Amino acid sequence: MSRRESYATAAAAASSRTPYGAVVVGGGPAGITVVGNLLEQRQQKLLWVDPAFRAGRVNAAYREVPSNTAVALFLQFAQAVEPFQKIIDSTPEPNAVSVLRNLPQDKGCDLSKAADMCLMLSKGLAGHPEVNQLLGKVTAATFDKTSNQWTVSLENAPSPVVASNVVLCTGSSPISSPLPIMEKMQDLKINAIHLDLALAPSKLQKAFNPSSPATVAVIGASHSAILVLRNLYNLASTSHPSLQIKWFTRNKLRYAEKKDGWILRDNTGLKGEAAEWARQNLEENGIFEKSPVSRHIKKIWTEKGKEDATYQVELPGCTHMVQAIGYKQDPIPDLTITEGPGAPAEPLTVVYEPLSGRFFVPGLFGAGIAYPERVTDPYGNVEYAVGFWKFMRFLKRAVPEWVRQR
Ligand SMILES: Cc1cc2nc3c(=O)[nH]c(=O)nc-3n(C[C@H](O)[C@H](O)[C@H](O)COP(=O)(O)OP(=O)(O)OC[C@H]3O[C@@H](n4cnc5c(N)ncnc54)[C@H](O)[C@@H]3O)c2cc1C
Repeated sequence: MSRRESYATAAAAASSRTPYGAVVVGGGPAGITVVGNLLEQRQQKLLWVDPAFRAGRVNAAYREVPSNTAVALFLQFAQAVEPFQKIIDSTPEPNAVSVLRNLPQDKGCDLSKAADMCLMLSKGLAGHPEVNQLLGKVTAATFDKTSNQWTVSLENAPSPVVASNVVLCTGSSPISSPLPIMEKMQDLKINAIHLDLALAPSKLQKAFNPSSPATVAVIGASHSAILVLRNLYNLASTSHPSLQIKWFTRNKLRYAEKKDGWILRDNTGLKGEAAEWARQNLEENGIFEKSPVSRHIKKIWTEKGKEDATYQVELPGCTHMVQAIGYKQDPIPDLTITEGPGAPAEPLTVVYEPLSGRFFVPGLFGAGIAYPERVTDPYGNVEYAVGFWKFMRFLKRAVPEWVRQR
């Protein structure tokens, strides 16, 4: 059966009125992790929905990004549940997992390697007898208080499906709305470069004419901002000598730090290649000034409360801007609640509980970068745990509870 025919069959099956055990919304790393864990818990009849089943943003946008986690953690992820292990065992080598196995385990790798592993697992899970993959989007879900079930509307299915559980693994995307100051500086003609593009060196180089002068404003000091600075500097110091960068930052760089058995700033600090490059080139006490990067990068402190004044002086003359100021949850399906058949459906405002992965409505759960676990380190710092292995560790604990209590 061709892929297209198998999705058509899935669409027909999706419209069946037999309730699903769960509808899993999203086919990124989190969706893959949820499906693997639900199967591990013997949850039957899963409807898995995604517009592409191409491993989410790690494959679409971050293939050229160096990982901030060691290869060993990607392998640990791939081998964490039996359904994944069965896929690995039945996929001829070399495959995406054997490629990971042959890399140095304590170092990072390009995220393309992790994305390929997700693609392999996603394809394998599609062949599982309890998984019905449906290409498209979940558009809405209504919780019926009488039947205690969800009715889920789908873009590519003739009618809604009924399910006991719905799991939102819908992801997050870079915040790209213009900075408030741009309202006051509308005369400036600055081309916005999307963060996704700036994180992909092969695409970024095409954004500039090598022989025309360009000045790029980079906003932020996050992991993504440092990678963008490095990508731009690599262009400026090779093929694009007329490229200049103005780096607007209001925070000192913060690094993840290994402690005894745990990591301080594990989710918020710089790690991997980004940390190494920042330590060598961007730090204070003369390091930045002595580094060759300072020939192309001008560091501009945007002190809290005085940002606008700084932008007003420094932004004119910039031709491009990259904002690396965080990620926000992608839109979720319309959620409503009804007292029962025939009763009107009222909008449902959902509140996520980050210790259990539940929303405060029966049978609604979340996972992944949009709905991560909240963790507290031994110093009492609170963070949200984002990363393949962290999704897995959380869901191995949470999914048995989800299944037991429904
Ligand atoms: C720059 C960057 C680098 C990172 N590096 C690492 C790293 O080195 N190591 C690591 O472990 N983690 C890393 N992460 C963190 C994390 O692993 C990734 O962000 C990961 O892609 C998040 O997966 P996700 O499944 O939650 O979301 P996504 O990958 O965004 O997937 C969401 C999926 O849901 C689909 N979807 C959305 N709405 C609907 C709908 N209504 N119906 C159906 N489908 C829907 C989307 O189309 C998409 O396919 C990094 C994150 C970033 C931003």
